[in-house]
Amino acid sequence: MIPCDETTLGWWDATRERRLTVQRCAACGHHQHYPRPVCLACGGLQLSLVDVAGTGVVETFTVVRRAPSPGFEPPYAVAVVALDEGPRLLSNVEPWPDVTIGARVQVRWRPLDDGRNLPVFVVV
Ligand SMILES: [Zn+2]
Repeated sequence: MIPCDETTLGWWDATRERRLTVQRCAACGHHQHYPRPVCLACGGLQLSLVDVAGTGVVETFTVVRRAPSPGFEPPYAVAVVALDEGPRLLSNVEPWPDVTIGARVQVRWRPLDDGRNLPVFVVV
């Protein structure tokens, strides 16, 4: 899960409204995720958050069959999702038996205790 700090606060705030966002660089137009202080393409510092559709494709995945710590309920799929806008997210994809490389996915939101929401994906 992305830590909540001054660089990522706006991203987390958008999840309270169930909006998935990525950073866009004003200098070169590059989109990136997760939020960082600088543009990975040009080093620019003028980054803003823009909404994305929340759709993409499973680029790769693994099925976790053993809980890494209490609170996890295996089996579940952890996948790299390539958003249609380009950036990639590491996330859960459900239902795990249906996950395949190349599967189309759509974001869903898992509520957290403090009002934020965690983006997860479902196969469509
Ligand atoms: Zn840039």
